[in-house]
Amino acid sequence: MTRKKLIAGNWKMNETIPEAVVLAQEISNLADPAALDAVDVAVCPPFVDLKPVKTVLEFDRVNIALGAQNVYWEPAGAFTGEISIPMIKEIGCTYCIVGHSERRNLFGETNEGVNLKARALIEAGIAPIVCVGESLSVRDEGVYLDFVTSQVRAAFAGMDAEDAVRAVVAYEPVWAIGTGRTATPEQAEEVCAAIRATLAELFGDDVAQQVRVLYGGSMNEGNAALLLVQPDIDGGLIGGAALKAVSFIEIVKAAR
Ligand code: PGA
Repeated sequence: MTRKKLIAGNWKMNETIPEAVVLAQEISNLADPAALDAVDVAVCPPFVDLKPVKTVLEFDRVNIALGAQNVYWEPAGAFTGEISIPMIKEIGCTYCIVGHSERRNLFGETNEGVNLKARALIEAGIAPIVCVGESLSVRDEGVYLDFVTSQVRAAFAGMDAEDAVRAVVAYEPVWAIGTGRTATPEQAEEVCAAIRATLAELFGDDVAQQVRVLYGGSMNEGNAALLLVQPDIDGGLIGGAALKAVSFIEIVKAAR
């Protein structure tokens, strides 16, 4: 089964609207249409940048999808400071990151919240990019496979095969995020394969073979190719390198 690779840029809390428009324009200008046919590409800017970035991508008719970095699961109501799924859907988001380790660690996001978000997104036709990954202390204890696969089980709880197949998983070891210390291809493959085995256990092999499992954590144009040839790594969730159009596009090329 060949899964189409997905390269998603997580811009995190970077880029004011004018800056975001420039970055989107640069990415659009550098993107090779043939590469965008071969690889799914998405950018996930901050909420306020979504509409302006969408306008650039639409104007250029470039085949780059839009994603949000977070969302709340209730459709509307008294949830001060939150953004709903209908809001991001109306702008044109087809992906949404959920459970990024920065949200789990800095903003108290729980496995239960990740599950509610992922399920509500799937119901609305938006693909959740469910982030999982262990801290350095969990890795050093040697229990990282159990830790990550239990995050996967929690995120997919209550889903059926039809739901699960629409999700994306991103394995992002916390010790590799923004540190310049990338997981080796073997380390990343080991965990991505374990994630796929867990999905097979939960939903059957057919589903597991269709779900894309990305790697994220200091992926850049220098290390992407070796990570992306691993059998269970179906793309990348890119932070720092997604803020440089040249680097981001080089990673897209490496995914072809
Ligand atoms: P990084 O971030 O590429 O800067 O390590 C990845 C992520 O947090 O999604």
